[in-house]
Amino acid sequence: MMTTQDIDRGWLAEAIRKIEADYNRSADTHLIRLDLPKYPGITLYLKDESSHPTGSLKHRLARSLFLYALCNAWIGPDTCIIEASSGSTAVSEAYFARMLGLRFIAVVPETTAVPKLDAIRFHGGEIHTVADPRTVYAVCQRLAIETGGHYLDQFTYAERATDWRGNNNIAESIFAQMAQEKHPVPSWIVCGAGTGGTSATIGRFIRYQRHATRLCVADPVHSVFHRHFADRAVTAIPEGCASKIEGIGRPRVEASFMPAIIERMIAVEDADSVGAMRALSLAIGRRVGGSTGTNLWACARIVEEMARAGTEGSIVTLLCDGGDRYRDTYYDDAWLAEHGIAWQAAGERMRALLLERP
Ligand SMILES: *Cc1c(COP(=O)(O)O)cnc(C)c1O
Repeated sequence: MMTTQDIDRGWLAEAIRKIEADYNRSADTHLIRLDLPKYPGITLYLKDESSHPTGSLKHRLARSLFLYALCNAWIGPDTCIIEASSGSTAVSEAYFARMLGLRFIAVVPETTAVPKLDAIRFHGGEIHTVADPRTVYAVCQRLAIETGGHYLDQFTYAERATDWRGNNNIAESIFAQMAQEKHPVPSWIVCGAGTGGTSATIGRFIRYQRHATRLCVADPVHSVFHRHFADRAVTAIPEGCASKIEGIGRPRVEASFMPAIIERMIAVEDADSVGAMRALSLAIGRRVGGSTGTNLWACARIVEEMARAGTEGSIVTLLCDGGDRYRDTYYDDAWLAEHGIAWQAAGERMRALLLERP
């Protein structure tokens, strides 16, 4: 790693200016309102993170990780940037690395789907494959030493790289966009956990602003996070995380995951995530990703509980990424059948919730 004196302050200032100028040219993401015909007193909102330039909520994380590393003087003009990610994070980080003229290497399992590798390469990133997925972290550390580079390490730094008190983080943006609604302070915000960074930012912001909103994390059944939430002694699952939902659910509890600020976790079957994803795509007229389906399934559970208790209010969840990257998986009926994902019943149930009149 470089020392502060090694890094040219002029280069550093220019690097930060480029990221800030890019931000300044960008618009905020939309908050989409979804009325539920059956439940007129309850409204769902979707924070549409698919509209970032690199297509997912990882755009926010990548920007934060780069700014954090730059201001820590961990990155200079010749630093090779390295990350353990086979998906959205690497795509967004490759975008920022190219903006700064830096080499970027994504360390990925060799089984990673070609479209994802193409997306990383499209933004100028390089791919380093490993045979055993469990070795990605160690390989990143080794590559950082060999290249004199910097391992961004999303699973450690996601929770601390973001300004959780404000600076238009995702939570501040949600509350600002809710200001004119009938129930401006949501009863619940529902999100998933991959790094845990998004839930950490939202949970802290809610406390800091002293809102009554509660935070629910929707987690794939095959993930360790909800098991750790129920029993803090559980920190890894020996069988590995078999979840098919990309971006969320992990086999080990990551350093960035902050369970104490989560009120509730809901475990969701992959088939229910896919059914909800398909139904939501019909309801809003465009395809969303699998983790958005997981979020929606958990929202539906909360909607039904609120309706039974006779409470009104709003629930905000995240549209984490669009469905284009999943054309050959979650949107391919043959692929789903091949992987034993029987999603139709869940899809029908969710379609009824979103579209049917009472
Ligand atoms: C990373 C990711 C999440 C989870 O967000 P974290 O802040 O990492 O917990 C959800 N959905 C998708 C598609 C993701 O890529």
